[in-house]
Formats: sequence, structure tokens, C-alpha cells
Amino acid sequence: MSKLLVTGGAGYIGSHTVRALQDANHEVVVLDNFSAGHLEALPDGVAIVQADLLDEEAVRAALRDHQPDAVVHFAALIEVGESMSDPRRFYRNNLLGSLNLANALLDTRTAENTPVPVVFSSTAAVYGEAEVIPIPEDAPKRPTSVYGETKLSFEHVLSAYDRAYGLPHINLRYFNVSGAHASGEIGEAHPNKTHLIELALLTALGQREKMKIFGTDYPTPDGTCVRDYIHVDDLASAHVLAVQALLDGSPSTAYNVGLGHGFSVKEVLDAADRVVGTPIPREIAPRRPGDPAFLVAESSRIKAELGWAPQYTDLDQIVESAWRWHRRYPHGFEKATR
Ligand code: UDP
Repeated sequence: MSKLLVTGGAGYIGSHTVRALQDANHEVVVLDNFSAGHLEALPDGVAIVQADLLDEEAVRAALRDHQPDAVVHFAALIEVGESMSDPRRFYRNNLLGSLNLANALLDTRTAENTPVPVVFSSTAAVYGEAEVIPIPEDAPKRPTSVYGETKLSFEHVLSAYDRAYGLPHINLRYFNVSGAHASGEIGEAHPNKTHLIELALLTALGQREKMKIFGTDYPTPDGTCVRDYIHVDDLASAHVLAVQALLDGSPSTAYNVGLGHGFSVKEVLDAADRVVGTPIPREIAPRRPGDPAFLVAESSRIKAELGWAPQYTDLDQIVESAWRWHRRYPHGFEKATR
């Protein structure tokens, strides 16, 4: 059993990972500013530090007080559209916040003078418009959004710090995370809703009038963007494996986490229609700035090297798990209707 500090642990992916880490017998401390995370998303037995990564001293204090064996770093802003309209906020939160964490890790090195290792929540958005699909980890990194740039910038910080100071890290580049915990008790509940599957299901629940399809003129088979949808519990298990690899002394690296199959926006909406049992109203809208046409993972490396084996391999299954959560908690954690 090891002790792990999870930043952003009260968020969507964070809270699923916290459970998976506990299930793997780790002790978990969550550091979260609760700007988007939910206290209700945290299971019993987790220590909570309410702090912002922009508060350097608070981050150092959390590391000193809890002395984790490794850190899993999720805390970040995530909306691509907002990153384009408010880059200042994104660089500040995602880059400066992460830099504070990395610096605090150096400032609180162990007796052996090595900083504790980090699993970093990176993204497929670091690749931008890829030339080779599925995208391998060594593909060129040309983010089309500020969100992707902030994540790539911190990957660069981590590799420079590793070279200079020995900061072991694994960057997990997530593709499109979706679905909800098998228990049905936690799921996606962002304050600003932008993700396709969540929006489609909330539209089915009557909370929105219509789905907008952002662009039908992409160079894809049906003209809508293609994404690799990965279940949040499978992503959580990738973190458990990455943490273990670092604790076992694995060298720093990056892994894609996706299924390796793409689905278009139209295909996702059709799957949502099948799952909810009625057609979800939709209309065609202009492209959303920052969206590349294709994002599909080449994910054989994490399977081969860490033994990662995703359980949810079917789109309908992923959408069904999200539907269970949204139907049960139509207004998320704020107004749970059990
Ligand atoms: N999308 C859409 N309508 C929506 C939300 C998303 O057409 O209301 C599209 C979006 O343009 C992208 C895909 O669905 O091509 C997935 O978007 P999402 O925001 O879920 O994830 P992202 O790919 O930005 O991480």
C-alpha cells in the first residue's frame, strides 16, 4: 500500500481514479479547490486538502504534511472552447498551477534527494491535426487549442525537470473520456457542460432543446469529427497501472489512453438515441474553434508495457453507463434525486 496525493481528485476523472486507487489498496489524499469538483464525489476514507495549485505554499504544505509516495495530477481547466476565448485563464491555471506543483515536488524532496513521481493528466489534444491515424505517442505535437498547448507545455516542463533533477513521470494522454462509474453513484457533472455524450443525454432528459452538431464539413466519412471514446473506469485503471509502474522504478514516458477506434459525432448521437430509446433532437451548427477532425489513439504501448486491458469496448455500453448516472442524478451532485 502506498500513499498518493491526487490533485483535482474531486473532479470527474479524478473521483473515478480515487476509487480505483482505493480498490488497489492505496491510501489517497485529495487536493482540490472545488471550483469544478464535488465533495459528494469523494468516497469515505479519503483525506481532503482544500487548496488551489496557484497557492504555492499550500501545495508545499500538503506535500510536507502528507508525504505521498507519488502524485496523480488532474487539477486543470478542460474546455477547449473556453481555452480559445480566455487563454490567460488557461495558462494561469493549467501551466502556472502545474509548475507550482512541480516546484513544490523539488522543494520537498525525500531524504534520498529524489522528488516523488508524478502521473500527469495529459490529453490527445497535444497532437492537434494528426497525419497518421491512429496516432502513435511519437507523432508530432501541434495542438490546435490553447487547452492542448497548456498540457503540452507542462509535458515539456516535466521532461526538462526529469533531465535536470530526476523527476520520474508518466504522461497519460487521454482521448475522449466518457461514461460513469459502474456503481452509478458518480459520473460527469461539470459546471459548464460541453462534452458531447453528457450534453446528448441531458438533451434526452429535456434539459436542453436540441443538440448542436459542430461542423459537418470535416474531411471525415460523414463530415463530423471523429473521436476515440474511452470509459472513465478504464482510464482510472490506466492511472493505477501508471502509478504502480513509477513506484516500481519505471522510467519516465508517455502513453495514449484510448480504445483505438473512432466514432463520429453523428455515430455517437445515434448510439445515444438507441440507449435512451427516442431520437434526440439535433441541428447542424458551425465548427467549434480548436477542434481537429480526427483524434484516434494508437494505444498498443500501454497495453503491452503496463498490461492495460479496457473493459468497455463498445460505444453503446459506454453511453449506457453514462445514461444510468444522468437518469439517476439528472442535476448532478447538487440536486441528487435518488
Ligand atoms: N460536439 C458537438 N456538439 C456538442 C458538443 C460536442 O458536435 O454539443 C463535438 C465536438 O465538436 C467534437 C466532439 O463532439 O468534435 C467531441 O467533443 P467533446 O467536447 O465531447 O470533447 P473534445 O473532443 O473537445 O475533448
